[in-house]
Amino acid sequence: MKIISSAKSAQQYLHPFKLKGKSVGFVPTMGVLHEGHLSLIRKSRKDNDITVVSIFVNPVQFGSQEDLSRYPREEKKDKYLLQKEEVDLLFYPSADEMYPKGYKTYVEVNGLDQGLCGRIRPGHFKGVTTIVAKLLHIVTPDRLYLGQKDAQQAVIIGKMIQDLNFPIKTIVRPTVREKDGLAMSSRNIYLNKQHRSEATILFKALTQAKYEIKSGIQNPSMIIKNIKSMIEQYSSGIINYIECVSAEDLTSLRKLRGKILIALSVSFGKTKLIDNMIVHT
Ligand code: AMP
Repeated sequence: MKIISSAKSAQQYLHPFKLKGKSVGFVPTMGVLHEGHLSLIRKSRKDNDITVVSIFVNPVQFGSQEDLSRYPREEKKDKYLLQKEEVDLLFYPSADEMYPKGYKTYVEVNGLDQGLCGRIRPGHFKGVTTIVAKLLHIVTPDRLYLGQKDAQQAVIIGKMIQDLNFPIKTIVRPTVREKDGLAMSSRNIYLNKQHRSEATILFKALTQAKYEIKSGIQNPSMIIKNIKSMIEQYSSGIINYIECVSAEDLTSLRKLRGKILIALSVSFGKTKLIDNMIVHT
């Protein structure tokens, strides 16, 4: 596996493969890799000649009150895992490489970044779309692999790709979970024993909500109320939001019909967890 930290060198490395018509799959990450990331990488390896993974903890997507310095890093283990998965290129830039002094250009997808996580993390998605747009220009992949775990992020990036005419196919893959249902996340290592055990309620509450919608409940307030009371009854988590929106464009729904995204964010201590479920009616 080649490891490159300069954008220019990464472009130079990939150029000959593209000239030969090789297809490139790309998996952007913030490192501390787990089975969720690896599922995306394996799919990319299956679909493409070349797989590129990036690891970059993007300072621009962390708010001033958020814990950029606290975000976990596991460089050695990550490199070992990527090597094992036979990734072709790890793009591992520094913050100065991606945002040199005097950096001024940002990408924003208006509207879609206002609800859900956008409301509790103002500016977060502007950071995400900016870094992903930059990475896509550097890697110029044929296919981009994203996780359903970050549902709003996937919708926003998909829209950016469409609106800005990136010639890239976006592939969104299912959320990989621990045996007890907790969605895998680099942040899970911060949960203490009690919070780790309580956090399983998120998947249980979402599963219950799915069942209720499938059995005919169309009132979003009722679904949200039931999820809220389950989380409050069985955990000490602080609810940041619970919403039922259109899975296609994140607009709010008066009646639960079509492709519905039930999304939530709950804080356990200082650790903010997100999870979601898609329901088709
Ligand atoms: P992150 O390192 O958290 O920025 O995530 C990098 C990519 O992995 C994003 O597309 C995430 O949606 C995806 N991802 C993170 N956790 C999971 C998971 N549990 N299952 C599937 N994909 C995931």
